[in-house]
Amino acid sequence: MMTTCPICKSPVQWEGNPTRPFCSERCRIRDLGAWVAEEYRVPAEEFRLEEATPDEEQKQ
Ligand SMILES: [Zn+2]
Repeated sequence: MMTTCPICKSPVQWEGNPTRPFCSERCRIRDLGAWVAEEYRVPAEEFRLEEATPDEEQKQ
């Protein structure tokens, strides 16, 4: 079965692929980086409403 890498849109072999649905470790990390960047962008606004939150430690 073939699928498509959500990052670079390359065809990806599904069976026996440890990085699926991505074509490679690089794309997997790029996806991870995308949502991590998202996480940091959003709370910046809320930070002024509350003082430093305890769960900030867990993200480090
Ligand atoms: Zn890819």
